[in-house]
Amino acid sequence: MDSSLQQFCRSSLAEIESSGLLRILQNWEPNDTRTLSKEGQHLINFSSNDYLGLSTHPALQKESSIIQRSFGAGASRLISGNHTAYRQLEKALADFKCCESALVFTSGYAAALGTLPALVGKGDFIVMDKLCHACLVDAARLSEATLRVFPHNDMRRCDALLSFCRSKGGSHSKILLLTESLFSMDGDLAPLNVFAELRDRYDAWLMVDEAHATGVLGIHGRGGAEHFGVETHVDISMGTLSKALGCVGGFICGSSLLRELLVNRARSLIYSTGLPTTLCATACAAIQTVRSQPELRERLWKNVEILGDALKIKPNSPILPIPIGNERLCVERSLQLRKEGFLIPAVRYPTVKRGKAMLRASISATHTKEDLLRLAHVLRNFAR
Ligand SMILES: *Cc1c(COP(=O)(O)O)cnc(C)c1O
Repeated sequence: MDSSLQQFCRSSLAEIESSGLLRILQNWEPNDTRTLSKEGQHLINFSSNDYLGLSTHPALQKESSIIQRSFGAGASRLISGNHTAYRQLEKALADFKCCESALVFTSGYAAALGTLPALVGKGDFIVMDKLCHACLVDAARLSEATLRVFPHNDMRRCDALLSFCRSKGGSHSKILLLTESLFSMDGDLAPLNVFAELRDRYDAWLMVDEAHATGVLGIHGRGGAEHFGVETHVDISMGTLSKALGCVGGFICGSSLLRELLVNRARSLIYSTGLPTTLCATACAAIQTVRSQPELRERLWKNVEILGDALKIKPNSPILPIPIGNERLCVERSLQLRKEGFLIPAVRYPTVKRGKAMLRASISATHTKEDLLRLAHVLRNFAR
């Protein structure tokens, strides 16, 4: 006889399966950033957020192979897990992002979850884009602030919501204005210049999640705020070490006071073990590499242009969404692409809306021209 938990799991999974939404973990063998293998089949990887190929870059490999005295931090940062490598990493991040201060968390998800509830709560407002990442949605809910969501990049609606919150809450209520700079699924940009203006007009705090933009956007790779020239208007800049920086971990950049408050209030920092020393050192090397090798970013954008030209589109980021709609069809398309030697995942509900499944290709600096032209060829055949 099944226990009631077993029965619950079985019936829930059957329901997920019947909607074409079942997810399974697959075992990949990474070769380098550009390719990976599964059961002997070699695939060109168009699914990674490792935009610059740093996860396999020699500068990072060298750091990560240095044996530190201990691997695990042994305790949370506030107890004894705050080794000196943390100070170096946070200094490197703050210098890179041209901010006073940086605070590192174990992931971007943890950074969001710790930060929002530390800054706003009951009686305050969060005004955010409908397409914001799940970690921002979860963090906003956890904060218990009143949530107001505007349709994706609809700045008139955003303006109206801010006006509503300001009049309802009075001049002393806190309003946190929240968006991503480069949207993770659609690959489009938020008009951060308009966000900056609204932040000033309504005396709101502007928080920008630069997860996909760090290392990718801006002349120096600092992100969307650099791209739009509004860095001084962003109060709370969030990022991750796990995408273009090729490591793992999340961070918040801002003022020293903001950092000090988060150290005291961010529960995901206080009650969680710090990152291993080796990882902090490796992330430092990643930041150094982004700063010293702009050619990696140039190569990435050249690749975006090559694929764009071949498909006769003008993508403004390395993320290329290919809308399919039906969930099952999308999975089928993804499997067909795999037969052609490409790994391009099917993105389905709840990551995107029901009936809005898409293939999401992400371009890397490590792709060759041939990879891109061959992919364009296969995609064009699909469209027919
Ligand atoms: C990936 C991602 C995160 C989470 O970062 P992790 O370090 O992977 O936890 C946060 N926000 C956005 C927009 C992301 O794409």
